[in-house]
Amino acid sequence: MTPPPDGRHLLILGGTTEARALAAALATALSTTLSTALAGRPGLRVTSSLAGRVARPRLPAGEVRIGGFGGADGLADWLRAERVDAVVDATHPFAAVMSGNAAAAVPLLALRRPGWAAVPGDDWHRVPSLDAAAALLPALGRRVLLTSGRQGIGAFAHLDGLHFVARSVDPPEPPLPAALDVLLDRGPFTLDGERAVLREHRIDVVVTKDSGGAATAPKLTAARELGLPVVLVDRPPLPAGVPVAASVPEVLERLAEQGLTGR
Ligand code: NAP
Repeated sequence: MTPPPDGRHLLILGGTTEARALAAALATALSTTLSTALAGRPGLRVTSSLAGRVARPRLPAGEVRIGGFGGADGLADWLRAERVDAVVDATHPFAAVMSGNAAAAVPLLALRRPGWAAVPGDDWHRVPSLDAAAALLPALGRRVLLTSGRQGIGAFAHLDGLHFVARSVDPPEPPLPAALDVLLDRGPFTLDGERAVLREHRIDVVVTKDSGGAATAPKLTAARELGLPVVLVDRPPLPAGVPVAASVPEVLERLAEQGLTGR
């Protein structure tokens, strides 16, 4: 699609609540003729990109493309062909391959919600990877709530002595642990709901990535209430030199500084 003659083109690498919030904020700004703090310049085209991992993704407002680009080179080609002026990496904090490819292809801005912080009463065990989480688990419990995403379940497949309750949006694929119940669900989750999951499945340890955000935080509160240990997988580092914004308003501010949106 050809952009408007005087238009600019912004690509949002998405798949997160924050990416949808950014697309919505820009769509709202662009649809109004009022000169507000967020008002976009006429002709700004915004495209959101999704990996296509989940069967029925929540679609962001505005234009959407779905599927991989074909590595950093494929992304660079796409950005050239579509005349993209700026890229916001609003992917999940654990989508490190996409972030690395994007940083290699183009100067970009990352939108990352902050990670979670422990409060008194939490029994958190931070580990650098899913494999490290699997190595630690047998020392902490026998019945595991696994919320690390369906792509991460394979790291636990060899742990025959443990019973897993894995929650994911779509069904996980092998390799899988021998003793496994799957809960198909997607956030946001409530504290009451999380209490019920932990009690009904007699969970004694929780495994999660440090995704951050309110939508999936209630499991941490429920675990604290029940005195359960939580194995928390640390985020992979962002590619070096990529500036980070922690919120949608901060991204809008930076885009305005670049002249992509009005103030
Ligand atoms: P990843 O391992 O970093 O990326 C693997 C490949 O998937 C990339 O090389 C790219 O393929 C493609 N890809 C990833 N994100 C894309 C996007 N937004 N648009 C187009 N292609 C994309 O990513 P992942 O961990 O599988 O995550 C995939 C998507 O799910 C991301 O959009 C992420 O925001 C979302 N998500 C991930 C998690 C998680 O825990 N990892 C959780 C919730 C949501 P090409 O090399 O072919 O371009």
